[in-house]
Amino acid sequence: MNILFVSSEVYPLVKTGGLADVAGALPAALSQRHDLKVLLPAYEGVQHLLEELREGATLGNPFGYGEMRLLTGHLPGSDVEYWLLDCPNLFHRQGGPYLNADGHDHADNHRRFAALSWAGAVVAQYGHLLGWQPDIVHAHDWQTGLLPAYLKAWNQRHPPVVFTIHNMLFTGSFSHDQYLEVGLPESLFVMHGLEYYHNYSMLKSGIVYSQAITTVSPTYAREIQTPAFGCGLDSLMRDQRHKLSGILNGVDYSIWNPSHDEYLDQPFNARDLSGKDQNKHSLQQKLGLRSEPHAPLFGVVSRLSEQKGLDLVLQVMPEFLERGGQLVLLGSGDKGLEKAYYDLADRFPGQASVNFGYNEALAHQIEAAADFLLVPSRFEPCGLTQLYALKYGTLPIVRRTGGLADSVWEDIPGRPQTGLVFDHATTHDLREAIYRALALYDNKKLLRQIRQQAMRQDFSWESASAQYLSLYKHLIG
Ligand code: ADP
Repeated sequence: MNILFVSSEVYPLVKTGGLADVAGALPAALSQRHDLKVLLPAYEGVQHLLEELREGATLGNPFGYGEMRLLTGHLPGSDVEYWLLDCPNLFHRQGGPYLNADGHDHADNHRRFAALSWAGAVVAQYGHLLGWQPDIVHAHDWQTGLLPAYLKAWNQRHPPVVFTIHNMLFTGSFSHDQYLEVGLPESLFVMHGLEYYHNYSMLKSGIVYSQAITTVSPTYAREIQTPAFGCGLDSLMRDQRHKLSGILNGVDYSIWNPSHDEYLDQPFNARDLSGKDQNKHSLQQKLGLRSEPHAPLFGVVSRLSEQKGLDLVLQVMPEFLERGGQLVLLGSGDKGLEKAYYDLADRFPGQASVNFGYNEALAHQIEAAADFLLVPSRFEPCGLTQLYALKYGTLPIVRRTGGLADSVWEDIPGRPQTGLVFDHATTHDLREAIYRALALYDNKKLLRQIRQQAMRQDFSWESASAQYLSLYKHLIG
C-alpha cells in the first residue's frame, strides 16, 4: 500500500509535542511492509538533517506565496522517505514551526499551512504525474485540515483521507479575509462546511471533508462529543461519529527504553532496578537537588498550559516539599506559570529544580530518575509522557481523562495497578492521589511490584499501527 503522511512536525526533524512523536514513529512502524512518504514543510535547517537530498517536483506559485517545490530525502537507517515542501518565503525564518521568536503566532500561518494542505492534496490527486500515487492519505491536526477541502473543491476521484485529531483545542481559525488568500471556493464557507463562528476553522475542515476521523485514544473520542471537551465542535462530532474512532498512540521503544537509552547514566530494566536509583542520584547532583536517595522525587515534563493542570501542582507541592519531597520540572510555555515555578524553586532550594525550554536529554533523564510523574491534565487526548514513565518504572499520577484513563490504572477490575488516578481537576483530588503515592513509596515491596507491573505494559506501535492499517484497508475497499 502507498501511504502519504502529512504533518507539520515529525520527530526527529522538528518537534513541539506529541504530534511529532506520532508522525515519526507510526510511518516507521508501517514502513516495514508498506511504501510511506511523509510530507512536511522545509523549515529552516530541516533539509540539512536528511541524507540523499534530491529535488523532486516543482509545484509553481499558485497563490503568490512564492515558488514551491518538493525535496526528497532519508534519515539514516530509515525506510521512510521524507518529502519537504520547500518555499523559503513561508518557511525559512526565525522561531518555531508556529510561533515567531517573540512567542506570537507567525502572522501568515493561514498561508503556510494552507500551502502544506494544498501540497498534500496535489500529491493525493496528481501523484501519478509525480511518479508516486498514494492509495491513502493520512493528515494530522488543523495544519493539514484544508487538504480534504482542496480535494472536495477539485471534485475528482481521489484516495481516501484519514484525518487525525491530536488536540481539539487547536482549531486553526482564521478570518474570511484570510480565506480569500487560500484558493478555496466560497461554496465551502458555510455552516455545514468549514465556517466556524463567522471565521473558518482548518480543524473543522479536516473533520467535515475527510473520509475518516481518528483521535488518539478511545476515551477522548467519546469526550469530544460532549460540550465540556468539544471546543464548540461537539455537536459536529456527534453528527460525524459514524466515521470517528479512537486509537491509542504507541511508544517508540527503540527511543524510549531504559535498557538502552543513550541519555541515561545507567541502564536498567524490570528485573534489575538498581540503575534507576543511580539515575536518580545523577539527576539530583546535576540539578543541584539534595542527594537524598529516600526523598520521593516528583517529575514533570510538559508544556506549561492551562490544559496540563500544572497550576494545581503549584498549589499542592509546597506541602509535599515541606515534608521532604523533591520536584523536578521541565517545561515551556505560559510565562506566568514559569515565573510561579521559579518562585517555588527559590522557596525550596535543593528540593525543587525548574528547567525551562526544550531539552530532549533532560526529558529522558527525568522519566528515568523520578519516582512519580505528575500529569494532572484537565484534558489529555492521549498523552505520551505517562506512557514513557510506565516503561521507566516511574509511576504516573494522572487525572482520569482521555488517553490517561486508557493507559494508567489504579482501581480497574482485571487490570494491574500501574499508577495513581484521580477523578477531578481539583487540588483536593490531586493531593489525595499524592498521599496515596507516598503511602506506596513507604511500602518498598509493593512499590517494586507496581513498578514492575508498569514496566511490563506494552504500548508499542504494533497494536496501533495494525488498527490504522485495518482502517486504511476498510476505506480503500
Ligand atoms: P502534548 O503533545 O500535549 O504536548 P504529550 O504528552 O502527548 O503532550 O507529548 C509531549 C512530548 O513532548 C513528549 O515526547 C515529551 O517528552 C515532550 N516534551 C514536552 N515538553 C518538553 C520539553 N520542555 N523538553 C523536551 N521534551 C518535552
